[in-house]
Amino acid sequence: MAATAEDRVVETVPHKLYIAGEWRDGGEGGTLPVEDPATGEVLCEVADATNADANAALGAAHGAFQTWRNVAPRERADVLRRAYDLMMERQDDLALLMTLEMGKPLSESAGEIVYAANFFRWYAEEAVRVNGRFTVNENGKGRVLTLRQPVGPCVFITPWNFPMAMGTRKVGPAIAAGCTCVVKPAKQTPLSMLAMAQILEEAGLPGGVVNIITAKSSGSVMEPLIKDPRTRKLSFTGSTEVGKKLIAQGADQVLRMSMELGGNAPFLVFEDADLDLAVEGALLAKMRNIGEACTSANRFHVHESVAGDFAQRLAARMGDLKIGRGTDPDNKVGPLIDDDQRGKVAGLVEDAVSKGATVAVGGNRVDGPGYFYEPTVLTDVPDSADLLKEEIFGPVAPIKGFSSEEEAIRWANDTEYGLVAYAFTQDISRAFRVIEQLETGMIGFNQGMVSNAGAPFGGVKQSGFGREGGPEGLEEYLEHKYVAMNLGSEPVTP
Ligand code: NAP
Repeated sequence: MAATAEDRVVETVPHKLYIAGEWRDGGEGGTLPVEDPATGEVLCEVADATNADANAALGAAHGAFQTWRNVAPRERADVLRRAYDLMMERQDDLALLMTLEMGKPLSESAGEIVYAANFFRWYAEEAVRVNGRFTVNENGKGRVLTLRQPVGPCVFITPWNFPMAMGTRKVGPAIAAGCTCVVKPAKQTPLSMLAMAQILEEAGLPGGVVNIITAKSSGSVMEPLIKDPRTRKLSFTGSTEVGKKLIAQGADQVLRMSMELGGNAPFLVFEDADLDLAVEGALLAKMRNIGEACTSANRFHVHESVAGDFAQRLAARMGDLKIGRGTDPDNKVGPLIDDDQRGKVAGLVEDAVSKGATVAVGGNRVDGPGYFYEPTVLTDVPDSADLLKEEIFGPVAPIKGFSSEEEAIRWANDTEYGLVAYAFTQDISRAFRVIEQLETGMIGFNQGMVSNAGAPFGGVKQSGFGREGGPEGLEEYLEHKYVAMNLGSEPVTP
């Protein structure tokens, strides 16, 4: 029987570790299963890295750094540009692969491939613009010279929710800066990163610059790498809980780090907002990635004069979305990543309802195979409901009314997280007041999405530190070396 497109895209990607430019089995021959969350069926098995494999990957990154750092910036740029082109040529296959391992609808996977590839294109353009500076001292005598140099071999750990983009937004700037890396994707979604490695190899990236390891026990495999003095930078995207552990592990060697952690995004709708725009923005901020995004609107604070209207319109839109396997283009709501995640979402809804929230739409698991949950809108959500405090990571929109701008800001900032906030208003003075007071790294102003390869993505408070995207994202992979220059024959004195 002829292989289906699904079999073909899964089989085209090597299910192995990629170390020093070679595809290898795990040292002990172990494997781990990759499941389709829409069916619960196993798609394939990928290699399970041992500690020795991880050590070999870091050795390869360390060895390759000695040459890659000196490769001409134009050559590094050309590799990235070719990788961008290849990723775009294979957009459909890569999107299908992503939908199979992660569950999101095909159109969203295709969108993520563009977003992911854009990091390669953006940093291809930045690679040739890494400048130092040269200035005259203020006393007119000496000179200040600064060099910007790559930080060195990096360790990257990525989550399952954006399996391609969370990798390329680290790997793109690292390659551009002259760094090398070991990437460990989440065990649920390793295939996208293996496909990325295949593309980089075809684009001409020398072996050892990017190494991929997949592993069942991420903790025990990654800790030695984080503590290894050859590692000069850790960039992690994932939960705040795991981020804190990794920060502690890297502390001993004062490891340079970027932490892209969890969020609890407030979505503010003021009484003067364009309600059509706000509902469309809400749908995007809530339903993109089935609500499994760090940037997902986690709680909706809506002025009480428009809260009823807003809830009704959002519930109508959410209730209309077709639920089903993401491979069918008609389906707009895919499965959650696994049964644990679905159980957590269901538990949060039950808790809110038991404390007095009203279900405007949804509120149930969907029967049958896969981990589907209905798009859900809850109104009159009490302060005590856990889902106002915790990251929901599912298609649930809790709505709570506010009576003043001051109250809206206070509620928005009442969280230990600070990744993104959304604000909808037509009043320009209010816009600036709100933007300046929100304690987040990013704000979607009259729009429900902030992701953009050319802009600095990142959070404050327990959402982490460091930025990905834009020129700021390249800085994460560069050191400044300052040279104090005496050009005269007199010794320098204090
Ligand atoms: P997670 O459980 O923290 O896992 C993230 C990554 O860390 C995975 O690769 C995981 O590997 C690995 N990991 C887990 N425990 C580890 C340990 N002890 N040592 C080393 N690595 C370890 O998060 P997730 O559930 O995959 O992703 C969802 C979270 O990511 C949410 O909180 C979301 O907000 C956050 N996120 C943040 C951003 C951002 O830019 N701020 C973007 C996307 C997602 P295994 O899965 O193989 O164990």
